[in-house]
Amino acid sequence: QAKNDGRSTYRFFDRELQRAMAERMALEQDMRTGLHSGEFYLVYQPQLDSRGQVIGAEALCRWKHPQKGMVSPAVFIDIAEKSGFILQLGQWVLEQACRTLYGWSMDPRLARLTLAVNVSAQQFHHPDFLPQTLDLMRECRINPAKLELELTESIFAQDVEQIAEKMQALKSLGVCFSLDDFGTGYSSLNYLKRLPLDQLKIDQSFVRDVITDSFDASIVVAMISLGESLGLKVLAEGVETESQLEFLRGKGCSLFQGYLFAKPLSEAEFQSYLQQGGPQVHA
Ligand code: C2E
Ligand code: MG
Ligand code: MG
Ligand code: MG
Repeated sequence: QAKNDGRSTYRFFDRELQRAMAERMALEQDMRTGLHSGEFYLVYQPQLDSRGQVIGAEALCRWKHPQKGMVSPAVFIDIAEKSGFILQLGQWVLEQACRTLYGWSMDPRLARLTLAVNVSAQQFHHPDFLPQTLDLMRECRINPAKLELELTESIFAQDVEQIAEKMQALKSLGVCFSLDDFGTGYSSLNYLKRLPLDQLKIDQSFVRDVITDSFDASIVVAMISLGESLGLKVLAEGVETESQLEFLRGKGCSLFQGYLFAKPLSEAEFQSYLQQGGPQVHA
């Protein structure tokens, strides 16, 4: 009897696994066609300095599936990473972002803003990444100094010297680099020293409980002072409340992003947000 139960449980999980795998394969296929039929778009989340000025935005990718509706980036980015589709998707995102930056450069109210773009490790390591990005910046006639690339600690799986060289090639034109989700991956202080980074982004998982969890508070304080002593800007992600903002500012953090100021916005919403004098809550 017990044996039978075990076997049917096994069959159940087997079926579930098969179903989940089929679902992922279907999504992967839908992503490929969806990218060509305009189902993907970017949204822009404002980034602010400690005076409450919007200094730029992070471009975040969205997918509206014709039947399933909005698919979370946590789901589709993961599938894209595992299937290699991230190379095409990432290139498309970078292209859209450069077009947006070009549009901004034509408008005196927007020309000073930076745009941050997430670049996956796979995309960054690909031999085409550097030449494609150089071409793109030239074709779109953007000022490279307005483009910021967000890398995660997962890039460190590869040779640090090679990473640094590639970064340097882009930095020499003015492109900035930010280390995203800082503290959640495999950073060693040695990497931080050897890479030409401009900014650390404190992951939202540390910001969330910074008021109530003294461990998170200590980590955040340490990250801010680490950034300071390495000469890096420090941006806190996922700032949702005034008290989090107060804490972070008090500890010397000077750049912020989060729902307290704005959620990710369409380009039109982002522009009207700026026109209305930026955030309603003043930093
Ligand atoms: P991320 O780059 O760390 O982006 C920040 C995420 O936090 C975004 O989630 C944003 O919507 C969310 N967020 C912003 N403020 C708050 C807040 O105050 N509270 C909370 N709880 N969340 C906040 P999103 O848009 O769902 O993106 C998730 C992740 O997917 C991104 O994390 C990034 O790793 C990845 N992603 C998104 N777009 C792209 C892309 O174009 N390329 C690549 N490679 N990855 C992307
Ligand atoms: Mg990011
Ligand atoms: Mg992040
Ligand atoms: Mg994240």
